[in-house]
Amino acid sequence: MAVKDRIQLPEQSPVLRRQNFDEVTIGYTLELAQEEGKRCLQCKVPTCISGCPVGIDIPRFIKELVNGNLERSFRILKSYNYLPSICGRVCPQENQCEGSCVLNKLGKPVNIGGLERFVADWAAANNVEETNEAEKNNKTSASFAKNKLDKIAIIGTGPSGLTAASELGKFGFTVHMYEALHEPGGVLVYGIPEFRLPKDVVKREISDLAKLNVEIHKNSPIGYAITVDEILENYDAIFIGVGAGTPKFMGVPGSELNGVYSANEFLTRINLMRAYKFPEYDTPIRIGNRVVVIGGGNTAMDAARSALRLGAQVTIVYRRTEVEMPARRAEIHHAKEEGIEFQFLTNPVRYIGDERGNLIGVECIRMELGEPDESGRRRPVPVKGSNFVIQADTLVEAIGTEANRFLLSQFPDLKTNKYGYIVTNEYGQTSIPKVFAGGDIVTGSATVILAMGAGKKAAEGIMKYLENA
Ligand code: FAD
Ligand code: SF4
Repeated sequence: MAVKDRIQLPEQSPVLRRQNFDEVTIGYTLELAQEEGKRCLQCKVPTCISGCPVGIDIPRFIKELVNGNLERSFRILKSYNYLPSICGRVCPQENQCEGSCVLNKLGKPVNIGGLERFVADWAAANNVEETNEAEKNNKTSASFAKNKLDKIAIIGTGPSGLTAASELGKFGFTVHMYEALHEPGGVLVYGIPEFRLPKDVVKREISDLAKLNVEIHKNSPIGYAITVDEILENYDAIFIGVGAGTPKFMGVPGSELNGVYSANEFLTRINLMRAYKFPEYDTPIRIGNRVVVIGGGNTAMDAARSALRLGAQVTIVYRRTEVEMPARRAEIHHAKEEGIEFQFLTNPVRYIGDERGNLIGVECIRMELGEPDESGRRRPVPVKGSNFVIQADTLVEAIGTEANRFLLSQFPDLKTNKYGYIVTNEYGQTSIPKVFAGGDIVTGSATVILAMGAGKKAAEGIMKYLENA
């Protein structure tokens, strides 16, 4: 069967976009979205739905879009996914919905993310009001809502917490969210840069929560300003969605030099504190002319592409080859187009400073791939005598994050695994019956939509728990 080519999302040219923080992909027009939507085969037994962690009825929302019923299309999306403009932009669709689309066998999958983004953005631009459609459709969950006077605390306002809050808010529960930072959104606001996910989009989708009995308390780190005991005493159920944002460090000699950052701090300064808008915003970031980023995931790409936009020449150092890089292919492609240099099969061994303690270079060693390790990936092994130096004014380590054990240790008898992540059942219930958890603090670093799926499941678990309590 002849299948039309996938319509790519229009993008800013690499030359232009490397000089600004505006969104790289521009999004479909209505005509392009409908044209792309027509590629959907409307399969009788759609495979794409099982690829989406929140099970969006993808063919149905696309059909309504193609038929010009955009409002109906939006309501279908929203009844499954509280943050469609966000997910349409940042979901790793190639491994999820699009990865399961049958058109993969005949060419390229439908651009489901692009269509989801289009419909959600259209609804926002046309002030389409939120309706509580999920409550009407989801009779099973509605039956859990026996006692709407129950109060639920949600710790953390990332995608898992936001989704749990919206699900519970829809059914009339009183939901109080607590966020350590001064803006809600978790990684969506402090990690993922503006050029991939505009903060206005995040704000807009979060603001819908205010209509659902959900109160957000900002600048409220639990375990510090408010104690865990107070939370346990004052709420009927608690959801922990605090992510896993504590940076890991490589422990390379010279890590204490000025100019060495964790990706977490680097990106938080740029995104949350808007360092790229200094002096309009009051947090500066001094990065100099040459930036080296260590790592191969999305975080490394985001740090590198942010540094490039601040005017630096940027090199990514990764210890394996491009094939093993965990970052999304699209991000690697965009980074290359923008002029970022990659040093594959390379690892840092020492950070070099001047007499004033400022970073001036990174000593690296070449690597080769040896036998597979327990993860099945081939282990990188240093090549003796292959050391060389890359000059650098700033170095960003983006080698992963882990759980913040301080907060968790304050919950009496909260079971965690050997990596420090919370152990739960399939409904997110922890070893403390009234405490639920989901997102990165349970799975370790994962994705926005998986965190949302966990928030949704935990909300269901909380409603069941409250019904029987
Ligand atoms: P988080 O988003 O981490 O949010 C947790 C929130 O809890 C934070 O706001 C934090 O301040 C708050 N908190 C922590 N401790 C406390 C406390 N004691 N009291 C109150 N609040 C607290 N995923 C994708 O799908 N696509 C991408 O393109 C993508 N890119 C990424 C880029 C970067 C740079 C990073 C770091 C991650 C990326 N991810 C991406 C992963 C994704 O963002 C996470 O998996 C997801 O945000 C996890 O959601 P969460 O709700 O578990 O926690
Ligand atoms: Fe695909 Fe993510 Fe949308 Fe699900 S939420 S359909 S995985 S883009």
